[in-house]
Amino acid sequence: MPNDVYTELCSLKREAATLSSVAHLLGWDQETYMPSGGTAARAEQSSLLAGLIHERETSARLGELIAACEEDAGVQGDPEKAANVREMRRDYDKATKLPGELVKELANVGSRAQDAWKAARKANDFKAFEPWLEKMVGLSRRKAECYGVPDGGELYDALMDDYEADARAKDIEAVFTPLREKLSVLVKDLLDNGTAPDMGPRKVHVPEAQQHAFGLRVIEQMGFDLKTGRLDTTTHPFCEGLAPGDTRLTTRYDEDYFMGALYGTMHEAGHGVYEQGLPKVGDDGEPSAVYGTPLADSRSLGIHESQSRGWENFVGRSRAFWEWAKPVADGYFGDGFKKYSADDVFRAANVVERSYIRVEADEATYNLHVMLRFGLERAMIAGDLAIKDLPGEWNSRFKDMLGVEVPDDARGCLQDVHWSFGLIGYFPTYTLGNLYAAQFFEAIREETPDLDDRIAKGDMSAVLDWSRKHVHLLGRRYTAAEMCEKATGKALSAEPLLRHLEGKLRGVYGV
Ligand code: ZN
Repeated sequence: MPNDVYTELCSLKREAATLSSVAHLLGWDQETYMPSGGTAARAEQSSLLAGLIHERETSARLGELIAACEEDAGVQGDPEKAANVREMRRDYDKATKLPGELVKELANVGSRAQDAWKAARKANDFKAFEPWLEKMVGLSRRKAECYGVPDGGELYDALMDDYEADARAKDIEAVFTPLREKLSVLVKDLLDNGTAPDMGPRKVHVPEAQQHAFGLRVIEQMGFDLKTGRLDTTTHPFCEGLAPGDTRLTTRYDEDYFMGALYGTMHEAGHGVYEQGLPKVGDDGEPSAVYGTPLADSRSLGIHESQSRGWENFVGRSRAFWEWAKPVADGYFGDGFKKYSADDVFRAANVVERSYIRVEADEATYNLHVMLRFGLERAMIAGDLAIKDLPGEWNSRFKDMLGVEVPDDARGCLQDVHWSFGLIGYFPTYTLGNLYAAQFFEAIREETPDLDDRIAKGDMSAVLDWSRKHVHLLGRRYTAAEMCEKATGKALSAEPLLRHLEGKLRGVYGV
């Protein structure tokens, strides 16, 4: 029985994953239906579970089994199993490298810093947040030192590794720099010399129930399986790949801006079809043999985001999509919407604006917002940017990129929650997602040259089938960079995203 240790290893991982799915169910319930009176008891339940999960993930037995599998010729001779063990080693080392005292301090200071950030943003008072950010950057640096600087990398890479394994800031910078320069020129040209689309279709009043029904229709068309998933309403939309056969999406509705909910729903459903496509369920409908191991886990945040952004922007904001969706939406949205053409709606879905707030940004300027944060957080971790100088540096870089003055810190460096609780190294995954999506869609188009004709008829299977084969079914078998090379034949570059944005938006703006 050469693979005994491997079988025991997988079953330990599966138990930890099952516990973790219970924790996620509690979290989902808290965000959706739990009465507010349940908060205190839920916190106790969640923290007890978090402790149990951490115990399992750092247990000595798990470490022994991983080591045994690394020595086992039978396991190492099987590329899938070897990849699975490689990824389990990575997770185990990360889980055991941080001293408990540091984990507690990060959680403790992080939750107080988050309160301080909320108050500081409201009062537009950076000085009140500055000491907390100083603390969080310091703690993050300590965390990175515990992980260790990866080969050929820098301290910041160790933090980024939690979200985008094996990524290096210098490689990302090499892709981001040309992207930033060319996007700044594109945005300026569109807004200074182009003709902005009519905003009318964006402002049509659509009752929540109609938006919800249409949203369900769209995600089914994408291939999101409602027998193994559902869609609910929350303040902050999210997707939770809860358990095998159970993927939960949430969205939120604004009756005077249906596109907010529609694109939010398509985005989360993009995450959802990825979760449904991971090999978590066997042919018999039971959890699969690899459930709970890295082979059934999503690759990275950047790859996850490539799936959501792909459906949201490359499908949902395309002319072909609206050729199919417009007559369908007419059946739900009423006469105020019917008077517009598919082309009117497509154009209104692609309005570009110089806005200060990242989460409200359009497809073109969004990446500029992200790249700004990447540059600044990298400099803070390297010690090249003093925390007190953050607002000035933010504002001057923002002006260089978008050509407008930031009016205040609330609409500048205080707008995002991430840094306050130590999410440093997370921002670049948003733009990596867009870059991967663009490169993946060029490959999909190459394989299916009549993609637009198919989507215009409501047939989106080419997108889903390609993603299943080249992304979903692979789990964490390859690194994100390897996955991209294998799927597209090329390393990640800025060119596909630039071609996509230039081609579409110059057409919309007539420049
Ligand atoms: Zn997302």
